[in-house]
Amino acid sequence: MSESAVLLDVRDVTKSYAASPVALEVLKGVNLSLRRGESVAVVGPSGCGKSTLLNLIGALDTPSSGSIWFEGRALDGLNHRELARFRNASVGFVFQFHHLLPQCTALENVLVPALVNGGARDRRARALELLERVGLGERAGYRPGQLSGGERQRVAVVRALINRPRLLLADEPTGALNEEGAAKLVALLLELSREEDMTLLVVTHAGQVAAQMDRILELRAGRLEPGERGT
Ligand code: ADP
Repeated sequence: MSESAVLLDVRDVTKSYAASPVALEVLKGVNLSLRRGESVAVVGPSGCGKSTLLNLIGALDTPSSGSIWFEGRALDGLNHRELARFRNASVGFVFQFHHLLPQCTALENVLVPALVNGGARDRRARALELLERVGLGERAGYRPGQLSGGERQRVAVVRALINRPRLLLADEPTGALNEEGAAKLVALLLELSREEDMTLLVVTHAGQVAAQMDRILELRAGRLEPGERGT
């Protein structure tokens, strides 16, 4: 694989949490290379360390050992400002629960990461365009309480995309949706990642969600292995 085709490289990453009486080693040497534009699912039972891995990749936490490289730069070599910028602009996060601000409209929620990035004005047009793209053009002025679960999750997806991240990290993005809502959201994530030339890393329990990604990896005993393709 040529260097420029690689977006993210996770090299021999371990992560332990201090817990009595002994430290809990959740990740025991994880290796992962993500190419630009590909979609990858990480599956595994609850508690095996999937969210831990996503948090490390998104620089929300730091590995105990090993290194994470994004576009050829090691995250542990970035200074405070560069790291903040990485979290805000290079990666987008979608979680199981939407975490939208209840008092803000869909449009305002979507613009929150753009405010941090100092470009809310330019982003307004993009926000409206993306809301339209996900079928919420008419609902830009609605508050989360006035939207369905699937609609709220779509707002959360648009919020994650507002700063044009190269990598979208999704942690059980369909966990709070019914089967139909889940299928729609996954189709949307895949379409948007193609349109936006974005790499998609999805942590999921759902075999049907995983089956739609280019690759499936299984986190087992602290390591990533090729996973089985479900039906
Ligand atoms: P998953 O996402 O696969 O359900 P997690 O990454 O959330 O798994 O958690 C993996 C293990 O690490 C669990 O045993 C969990 O209790 C533990 N853990 C997660 N975060 C912390 C933390 N901040 N401090 C201590 N233990 C943690």
